[in-house]
Amino acid sequence: MHIETLDLLRCPYCGGRLTLVTSLFNQVSGDEIEDGILGCHCCIFPVVSGIPILHLLAASTAARDQVQAGRPDLARRIMFGLEDETQAERFDAVAGSETATYRDLVEALGPHFEGGYFLYRFSDPTFVVADAVVRAIARTVLAGGGRAVDICGGSGHLTRALLGLSPQPPVLADLYFAKVWLGRRFTAPGCEAICCDGNAPMPFARGAFRFAMCVDAFMYIWTKRQFVADLTRLVDGPGEAGAVMIGHTHNELVWCPSHGQPLSPAGYRDLFETIEPHIFGEAGLFTDVVNGGPLDLSRRDAEEVVNDDAALTIVASRRAEVFRPHPLDLPAQPLGELRVNPLYAAEAEGERVRFRLKFPSEDYEQEYGACRQYLPDTFVLDRAALAAIADGQVPPDLADFVRRRVLVDLPRKYY
Ligand SMILES: [Zn+2]
Repeated sequence: MHIETLDLLRCPYCGGRLTLVTSLFNQVSGDEIEDGILGCHCCIFPVVSGIPILHLLAASTAARDQVQAGRPDLARRIMFGLEDETQAERFDAVAGSETATYRDLVEALGPHFEGGYFLYRFSDPTFVVADAVVRAIARTVLAGGGRAVDICGGSGHLTRALLGLSPQPPVLADLYFAKVWLGRRFTAPGCEAICCDGNAPMPFARGAFRFAMCVDAFMYIWTKRQFVADLTRLVDGPGEAGAVMIGHTHNELVWCPSHGQPLSPAGYRDLFETIEPHIFGEAGLFTDVVNGGPLDLSRRDAEEVVNDDAALTIVASRRAEVFRPHPLDLPAQPLGELRVNPLYAAEAEGERVRFRLKFPSEDYEQEYGACRQYLPDTFVLDRAALAAIADGQVPPDLADFVRRRVLVDLPRKYY
């Protein structure tokens, strides 16, 4: 972690500033803290592999003891949940390899770490909506400076949407160390990664950010009122007003197979005490994206529209420009590697290659089958087009393939 990142952080329990305890074991190189102990008015927290762990759950305190004992390698194993010696050694070997991919590391963490669908994450319907909303808001509120934070951001798939939209890198925060570690290395390279507990006060200073978001996780938070108060506190800084966004949260009024404790739209509205949120049904936003834009955040969905939608997006901001139609825009150049969407199986057809949409499982198709609205069943590319794509060039006649996620801009070394 950069030493200046300490300016953004506060102890979640006493609110005090955090500083490196130089009398205890630490490894600092230049302006980066690699391992060490941070102290506030009330307690101490470890930094492991450049990631501050700002909660007091069992793994954190065990890792802190190992850092204090001068064993950051063992602290890291604890944070990865690698209890078995053989598995830990295998993971360390993979993690130390320059050529290891995101997929290699997910596999080395064991079958319980992450579901198998991360390969397809960048084109699933939930993601394409959230990606469009995040880009639209971030471009608007970060245009004059400021920073963004992705809370409960997992391994940073949406943090990636924030790259390049602010002078300072985005912050990725999640309870799971392994996820933010992967996010920083692969998915959103250059982001600042932080471990914290979404059910505790957030470990950030008031006004540290201009955009604070939480996507596909809010229904799993129990302390929702505290969480929303904190989100708005995070963007309450001097200068231009910021924005908060809660993306893809489930609706209690519509049955859904996932767990969690969703609220009704009225329940979500009541969480916001100081600012009136705009609540969007996700179906309308999805239609905007499928149609190629604009993404119309000026819409005021009627009560029955939001009550009937299984998933909601909530945006609160005092910046009127947020609530307007936004053109859909993707980065002009790929951030990573341009690839044919891994949902397609390839078969040679003479000098050309035919691609067919092939879902990894029936479950996947059931949950994400709406992607058929932008992914064609089949298409053909010639060798020249494939070579250009491998080179990071989009042939002019295929520009629409990028928008429709037939071609995806994947992190380098993803799989
Ligand atoms: Zn404290």
